[in-house]
Amino acid sequence: MRVLIAGAGIAGLAAAPGLLDAGHQVTVLERAPAPRDGGCALTLWSNGTAVLADLGVRLDGLGQRIEALHVSSARGRRLMVVDTGRLAARFGAPVLVVPRRSLLARLAEGLPEGTVRYGAALTRLHDDGRSVRAGTEDGAEHTGDLLIGADGVNSRVRTALFGSGDGAHARPTGAATWQGLVRAPFDLGHRGLLFIGRQGLAGLSPAGDGLLQWLIDLRARPGAEHRDPGRALAALRSRYAAWASPVPELLAALSEKDLELFPHRRHHAPLRMRRGRCALIGDAAHAMPPILAQGAGQALEDVAALLRGLARSEPGPALRAYERSRRWQAALASEAATRGVATAGPRTLFQTEPALRAAAALPDRLATWSFGMLIRGVSDRL
Ligand SMILES: Cc1cc2nc3c(=O)[nH]c(=O)nc-3n(C[C@H](O)[C@H](O)[C@H](O)COP(=O)(O)OP(=O)(O)OC[C@H]3O[C@@H](n4cnc5c(N)ncnc54)[C@H](O)[C@@H]3O)c2cc1C
Repeated sequence: MRVLIAGAGIAGLAAAPGLLDAGHQVTVLERAPAPRDGGCALTLWSNGTAVLADLGVRLDGLGQRIEALHVSSARGRRLMVVDTGRLAARFGAPVLVVPRRSLLARLAEGLPEGTVRYGAALTRLHDDGRSVRAGTEDGAEHTGDLLIGADGVNSRVRTALFGSGDGAHARPTGAATWQGLVRAPFDLGHRGLLFIGRQGLAGLSPAGDGLLQWLIDLRARPGAEHRDPGRALAALRSRYAAWASPVPELLAALSEKDLELFPHRRHHAPLRMRRGRCALIGDAAHAMPPILAQGAGQALEDVAALLRGLARSEPGPALRAYERSRRWQAALASEAATRGVATAGPRTLFQTEPALRAAAALPDRLATWSFGMLIRGVSDRL
């Protein structure tokens, strides 16, 4: 079969080798002129790393293994320690924090020359029921028996399939993340740190090679938040001055070039993941807030499900089976990511110091077990 993939992000590049191995011809159309070499780091929970290993992707030397996630209140009260090392042993797959560029480079390793066409933004597609034609900005036309839309949150493939009407696209949630990948100003070992307060959350994780990934999730008030990193950094330093160490120390060590802002958006259920001879995977199908760190994990789960379906049946039934197997788990991950930590409204009352005392009573073993259940609940693989 000739398979066209729109987008050489995590989803597209993870799908390409599996399809080639299954004997298909694969062309990946990527809008960017060259492989992406920037971006921050991602946490991959055991479901994501298990799928990577199944796909034959080497994990050695990729990012940093996280053995424990220490969760505290904004003032530093210890709430729980999630034993990610124990989860890794239980699921047979590690929890990793990986710079996005390293993951993309690893996924692209071994792809035959010319598989990815850079500078080829998909602008239109036509599905006549027997084949799909995709037009790109450079005027070229590509024909496939199947087209996979892996073109991210603003997916052109999604618009082509479902139009631009209400409900077709990812909507803002009202929260946003400031984040960056920097030379680590201090050593966290193999621990990730998470602080929760009424303003949202702050997270810090080692990402390998002396790098540190940090993020702050907060309310995104349209027009009111400082999108300009220069003004934002001063505002963040003053707003989080009273948070526990090392949040103020981290902010003190940053410069404006270390900050990137990502407003959160999500697709709402019921998720629509295919039409005719086209399927959507990754953020094109189900963008979600990053709080649960499952966006890339869910993209990889999509790839595994799609490959499974295509190995068993013809494109039509395979895509229907794919949508059936993924839509509720991806929706659950998105819901958990949206409700996990509040950045505004009455739910922030549960994130005050007195209210968080109750969470501190949860034994670490139970916290680890609950996290494991959550990750298993959004995974087909574990
Ligand atoms: C701040 C932040 C933190 C995050 N942290 C985590 C985390 O810790 N763990 C985690 O699992 N997930 C995390 N995520 C989510 C994760 O980044 C996404 O879920 C993941 O990147 C989705 O991969 P994708 O391949 O579907 O889309 P993308 O990575 O967005 O890739 C889409 C690709 O399609 C290309 N493209 C776009 N339009 C076209 C077109 N018309 N034609 C051709 N190509 C096109 C783009 O250039 C891009 O290369 C985070 C997201 C954000 C915003």
